[in-house]
Amino acid sequence: MKVTELLARSASPPISYEIIPPLRGSSVQQVFDTVEQLLPFEPPFIDVTSHAAEAYYEELPDGTVRRYSKRKRPGTIGLCAAIQHRFRVEAIPHLLCNGFTREETEDALIELHYLGIRNVMALRGDDNGYRKPDRLDRTRNLYATELVSQIVAMNRGCYLEELANAVPTDFCVGVAGYPEKHFEAPNQVRDVAGLKRKVEAGADYIVTQMFFDNRHYFDFVDRCREAGITVPIIPGLKILSSNKQLRTIPRSFHVEIPEELAAEIEAAKPEQVAEIGVEWAVRQSEQLLSAGAPSLHFYIMACSSLVTRVVRPLRVMA
Ligand code: FAD
Repeated sequence: MKVTELLARSASPPISYEIIPPLRGSSVQQVFDTVEQLLPFEPPFIDVTSHAAEAYYEELPDGTVRRYSKRKRPGTIGLCAAIQHRFRVEAIPHLLCNGFTREETEDALIELHYLGIRNVMALRGDDNGYRKPDRLDRTRNLYATELVSQIVAMNRGCYLEELANAVPTDFCVGVAGYPEKHFEAPNQVRDVAGLKRKVEAGADYIVTQMFFDNRHYFDFVDRCREAGITVPIIPGLKILSSNKQLRTIPRSFHVEIPEELAAEIEAAKPEQVAEIGVEWAVRQSEQLLSAGAPSLHFYIMACSSLVTRVVRPLRVMA
């Protein structure tokens, strides 16, 4: 079922999750175990992120630079198919512009549609500084708007080339929004204007970057509505579990951690931090739900033990 239908039909705001494919060499059982722990909470959908291979570069004596793949993750498409068919939970693959040609994206979408997957998240991806040399007959989506347009065109039966079996696809498309602004956007007005272009291109819903102060989400929703964006805006939440994240999260995701939370974590023993993170996430979630958020989306990556402690009291509340 499409995310927009799930949101419209749910009696209470549904709570969804986002996982990261494990590193190559691990077992798929790790993902199955994570999903199994979420099943009692009836997840409406589970997103599976997508990642370009992590690489490092070495300068050779002749002055050329050689690229080595350091870490790869197994395929997002395969994991989505496995989750959806094994657990009967909608699985949502993240599709990236970076690292893929439009031709590769079209092939991925054909495969996803065939597998019965009806939702995709369209993202640009972060620039890892690497460009595969392009063949002349290959093209690229540079921004998420272009990727959304490609998916929407396929929904109308328009493929990159005339195909004898060009069946229209039927994807519901999610895109990313940034309550604290995308780090490359010059200001919030331009950022929301870019988001509006993604919606005008055909995006059906928005999932936000994580935030730890709900005021960022409420202000962002106001700015989006004033700009004429009417699609659902799903708040993305992360549960802090270590002191180190006070530095890594702002650096990686360009979001701030409120002083009250940062001070509490800094004063705590390492084994107390997860409890602080859980309590903060419960308070954030309760406030968002009371204020009418359409649903909640938790970035859990590979671990479901903390989120179950947040979701259990919320379900009691709902
Ligand atoms: P876009 O919407 O394309 O915007 C990127 C920047 O370019 C913005 O600053 C925008 O203002 C600007 N821009 C847009 N169009 C134009 C234009 N025509 N000309 C000039 N500037 C323009 N990353 C991953 O690698 N894998 C994932 O699975 C993943 N999942 C994510 C899930 C969510 C919910 C979120 C919020 C982020 C996720 N990301 C993921 C991170 C995301 O890929 C990065 O934040 C990336 O830098 C931007 O992606 P985007 O789709 O928002 O890009």
